[in-house]
This record gives sequence, C-alpha cells and structure tokens, in this order.
Amino acid sequence: MKNTVLSARILKMSESATLAMTKKSRELKAQGLDVINLSIGEPDFNVPDFIKDAAKKAIDDNFSFYPPVAGYPQLRKAVSDKLKRDNQLDYAPEQIVVSTGAKQAIANVFLATLNPGDEVIVPAPYWVSYTELIKLAEGVPVYVSGTIETEFKISPEQIEAAITPRTKAFIFSSPNNPSGMLYSYNELQSLAKMFARHPEVLVISDEIYELINFVGKSTSIGIFDEIKEQTVIINGLSKAFAMTGWRLGYSATSIELAKAIEKVQGQITSAANAVSQIAAVTALQVDPTECKELTMMKSAFKERRDYVLKRFGDIPGIRPNNPEGAFYVFPNIEQLFGKSDGQSIIKDDNDLSLYLLNKALVALVPGSAFGDPNCIRFSYATSMENIQKAMDRIEKAILELK
Ligand code: PMP
Ligand code: GLU
Repeated sequence: MKNTVLSARILKMSESATLAMTKKSRELKAQGLDVINLSIGEPDFNVPDFIKDAAKKAIDDNFSFYPPVAGYPQLRKAVSDKLKRDNQLDYAPEQIVVSTGAKQAIANVFLATLNPGDEVIVPAPYWVSYTELIKLAEGVPVYVSGTIETEFKISPEQIEAAITPRTKAFIFSSPNNPSGMLYSYNELQSLAKMFARHPEVLVISDEIYELINFVGKSTSIGIFDEIKEQTVIINGLSKAFAMTGWRLGYSATSIELAKAIEKVQGQITSAANAVSQIAAVTALQVDPTECKELTMMKSAFKERRDYVLKRFGDIPGIRPNNPEGAFYVFPNIEQLFGKSDGQSIIKDDNDLSLYLLNKALVALVPGSAFGDPNCIRFSYATSMENIQKAMDRIEKAILELK
C-alpha cells in the first residue's frame, strides 16, 4: 500500500514502545528463545477470584447488551464511592465516565479538549502514550524534564515557566511510570497552588498506580479545592486488580467535560465492555486496605523492588533510582555509553536495550521512549524467579562491556 493512503496523523505517530518491545519478545519466544520480557508493566498475578465470580455471574445475568455510553449507573456510583473512600475526592456519578482502560480515558480527554496547536505540558520522564495521544488530538506536547538527582520530580517553578497562552493542559502520573516516583502531599499542594493561578490549564492526574505504593498512601492532587474545577482524575482497574486484559478505566471531572468525554466515546467505542463493568462494581466496593489479594500483590511488588535495587546497586555503570511505587525501576545508564563487548559499541539507550535483548535475552524499554535517553526501564511485574534470572543475565552481559 502506498504511504499516501495513510493520514499525516498516523504517519507522525510512534508505535507504543512498551507494546512494541513486548511484541518483539513474543516473536523471539515463538522462535524458541528463552526471552524474559521485562518491557511491559503488567501484573503477573491472576484476577482475584471474587472479581472473576462477579464476571461469571454477569454473563449468566445476561449483561450482553450495549451499556450506557458513560457506564452502568451502579459502576459510576461505585467509582464515586471509591474516590470518596480511598482518595477523599468528591465526584458525583454524573461526573464519571467509564472507558476501555485508562488509556481510552486519557485519549477521550485530549480529543474532547484540544484544538490544533494547543500545548500540553508533560513532565519527563512520562508514560509513552501521553505524547502520542496529544499529537493524535493535534495538540503539541511541551516537555519539562526531571532528572535522577531530583528523583525525576519537577517543581512548580519549572512548570510555570513552561506555561504560555497556548497551554491547555498538564498531564502527569504519580506514582509515576516509568520512574516509580511519588509526589508527596506537600509537593502536590505546591503544584496545586501554582495551577490555581492558571485556571485555564486543565490538570490531568493519572492515578492508575495509586494502590501500588510502598509509602502507605498516595495523595491525589484533586483534593486541593482551589484546582478542583480544572482537574481530571484518571484511574482504572488494570494495575491494582491485575485486570489489564479486562480493559476498564475511568475519568472523573467537571460535568461539562464529562459530557464532552461521553460524546467522544459514544462515537468511538460506544461504551466499555459490559461484563468487565459489572465485575468492576464488585472490585471497587472492596476497601483495598482490607483486601487480602491486593495486600499480597503489593507486598510481592515491594519484595521484588528491594531485590532489584540491591542487584542493580552491585552492577558497575548502572545507577538505579529509588522508586516508591508502581512496578518499575528506571536506572541511569550513562556510564555505559561508549563501552563495547568487542563487537558493538553501546552508543545510547537503544543500543543497550538491543544488546541486552540479543546477549542476555532480557527485554527492557529504552528511556528515550519515556523522554529520558540516559535511562532504561525495568519492569519487575513478573515472578521473582524470572527477575533473579534476568538480573543474573544482565549482570553478566554488563560485566562484558569494557
Ligand atoms: N497510565 C499509565 C501511567 C500507565 O502506565 C498505563 C499502563 N497501561 C495506563 C495509563 C493505561 O492503563 P489501562 O489502559 O490498562 O487502564
Ligand atoms: N502501561 C504499561 C506499560 O507502560 C502497559 C503497556 C502500555 O499500555 O503501554 O508497560
């Protein structure tokens, strides 16, 4: 097919680097290679039984028709109650739209709000899909970079300096993908104070890793009243409940924007999957602090994080960060640039990830996909056995670089 068939929009879009690396790992595995895929952020646990039972019942109860575009009323109510219970956020069910994953919830927000040329401030490192979804909606991502020295956090001053008359929105995740960093209550409060001076800037808070944090509790920037009107909360069930394939996420925001989001979604997917929605009601009704399955997953992630950090600490040339949430480590690898195994030279993060894939059969994602070419992302959302094997192989391959 000639390239002219494809739109300029799609030609400009990059493939999701996380999903591309996973596809590559699957292909290599299909060829019989023992690849360990640490390139995707996907819990390796099964969906808790009480949620599976709710889904089976939903099928038997014939939840097989198109659901309302914004989600079943009982699910919008369950989300509203969850936001109050876990996050001290006040959103009525009418302010909530249930979508096919947090990814669609984010896409909906950009499609509903951006005009061509509108700027969206994105702190780097960022999750790979933010920038491509902004571009899909004809917006322009504007980057503000954090570094490992500042735990990848950015200050209100840095953001304020990037605000222009074209700035329409700001999007960030805390706990962060790819760094695992979490903003504290005080840091979020300072950010909120700054945004209150710019009420025209929409604050999109991606809280998908909220429940995977090792510091007790993750705060939502939405709790600060002065920015409530300009905030969009994004969350979903993929990470906390290990429900990635069930594709369920949601947004909570002003009624006006929720209606616009509903309009976009009504034309694109109609609604999120009926069976997943009914199962999600059951999942969200459970207080996460009292749910043994969630507690088990979180402590497994913490144990793996501690192990990975210890191992990285012993590998020369790799400087790990100190993640407090999500399930990623985002080490700095600059000291390895210019080194060689005698055959190829590691010039950058892409070379290093290719080297580790070919030599160690371990798939990681180069940091440049997340806006930081000095780092590489390691997902520890896999079994301890896989992690141990991967760390042994990475260590051996890195020690061969001189
Ligand atoms: N936000 C972040 C930061 C993520 O890492 C992911 C991972 N998939 C998503 C949103 C989207 O999640 P989902 O569409 O599976 O709900
Ligand atoms: N969010 C996960 C990741 O960053 C899943 C893959 C994706 O949707 O990007 O690996």
